[in-house]
Amino acid sequence: MLKANYIRHYIHEKGIRLTTADVSSGIAEMLKIHRLPLLSSAIMGKILACTAVLATDFKNHEGISLLWKTNTTLGTIRSDMYDGKYIRGYMDGYDEGLSITSTNEKKLISGVGAQLTITRYSLLRQPYSSTIHVTSGTIAQCFEQYKKESDQILCRMQTSVIIRENEIISASAKMMELLPEGDIAFFRHLGEETLNEQKDSLENMGFMVLSESPIIFQCTCNNKRIMNSLMGLPNREKEKLLQQPCAEITCHSCGKIYKISNQVMKEWFM
Ligand SMILES: [Zn+2]
Repeated sequence: MLKANYIRHYIHEKGIRLTTADVSSGIAEMLKIHRLPLLSSAIMGKILACTAVLATDFKNHEGISLLWKTNTTLGTIRSDMYDGKYIRGYMDGYDEGLSITSTNEKKLISGVGAQLTITRYSLLRQPYSSTIHVTSGTIAQCFEQYKKESDQILCRMQTSVIIRENEIISASAKMMELLPEGDIAFFRHLGEETLNEQKDSLENMGFMVLSESPIIFQCTCNNKRIMNSLMGLPNREKEKLLQQPCAEITCHSCGKIYKISNQVMKEWFM
């Protein structure tokens, strides 16, 4: 069992890195803001958890931003993991009440021309993005494809959601990576067993915990960001806003409503 609402980083002396993340309360918070059908909720929970495990460089507070253009009714999915512990996300579409099966999951995440873009931020280097064309597969398989194409790293991903009475009560992901000097035969030998943790606990299998941190649902929006996005609007849009006594701006990610008075907008736009 994974520790609820924690990310954990493990290393094995044979050159294998394992990262696990449980985002159960994060997805619950997100679903309070964005009501979604069950399959969409499960997909969102898995993607939030996978976004978290991609942030492996905890020493340098690595952040991950994900943009998944599904080209299906799910629309565009966004999720972020930042400062090694905060997550947020949303999708602008939804499924039409489909049942939870891996066939439906595959169909919904990879429409024709679907793309997955990951941007990484860290204290050490400039942000960089890479995009892959999602061919087909489950969410875990799409992330494996991303790691292979983008980072040239062999990895095994596993995602899991637990549903009780039509509610997502748990969402988690595990990622096992073969490091450049790693033992490929041992990596293959570990395979499913490590991901499933059937026989032994990870520590008994030789994995050592390097770091762990709680995961919290939190947004990065604030007044300054709202101001910057309004100031970036075309003049025509700004004039429309100024005709109103007050502008209401809702943050997509956390649902927070910002009310900006006409006077304040005038000062911003001057
Ligand atoms: Zn927000």
